[in-house]
This record gives sequence, structure tokens and C-alpha cells, in this order.
Amino acid sequence: MINCRDCASALNPYLDRELSDEDVVQVRSHLEACGGCLHVYQFEESLRRLVKVRCRQQGAPEWLRERITVLLADVEGFSYNDIAEITNVKKGTVMSRLFRGRRLLQKALVDQARSAGFAGGKQS
Ligand SMILES: [Zn+2]
Repeated sequence: MINCRDCASALNPYLDRELSDEDVVQVRSHLEACGGCLHVYQFEESLRRLVKVRCRQQGAPEWLRERITVLLADVEGFSYNDIAEITNVKKGTVMSRLFRGRRLLQKALVDQARSAGFAGGKQS
């Protein structure tokens, strides 16, 4: 049987259904025997349920959508049309997210360069 430390490090993979069948049996039998670990497991499970419900209600924030759009365009090299298909939005939405996302990235890079002493000029 696994100990509490092994159980603790297996809990997230267990909840993510990433363990082998053999490890699942080990974790389950430990949880049946150990009240402390069962309590942690129940807390983690209810936290995940809460996150799932909240994510369904609110969706991803716009800044994250903009960031993903910039990554798809500038890092992965997808076209506007590809990104529109991947993210299930219109091409115009892709273009406006790219515009806003790149501006945010530019501002973050300038701020970082200034604080590292690399860039002068006026503050924006
Ligand atoms: Zn335990």
C-alpha cells in the first residue's frame, strides 16, 4: 500500500485520470483506509467542481483570448482564417484581438525593458 506522501503526489493525476489502472487501485485503497488523505481528496474534488461550474458560467477572459490569438498568429504562424476556424470566431474578431493583444504585449515589453534600464524615451 502507498503512504500518505505518495498518495498526496498522486491525487492530482488521479483526479485528472492520468494514472495507470494499477496506480488507481493503489490510490483508491489508500483513500479508503486514510481519513486525512480522503479529506484532502474531497476538498480537491469539490474545488474542481466549483472551478468547472464557474468556467462554464463566465468563459475565458478577453485578455486571455487576445493572448492566445497573438500566440496562434505570431508564434505558431496561423493565418487570420485559420485562427478564426480554430477559435470559432469571425475573422474581424481575430483581427481586433490581434491588435489589442499585440498592443498589450508591446506595452509589457517596453515596461520590462524600462525597468531593466534598456529603454529611455517618454513614458506611455
Ligand atoms: Zn493518507
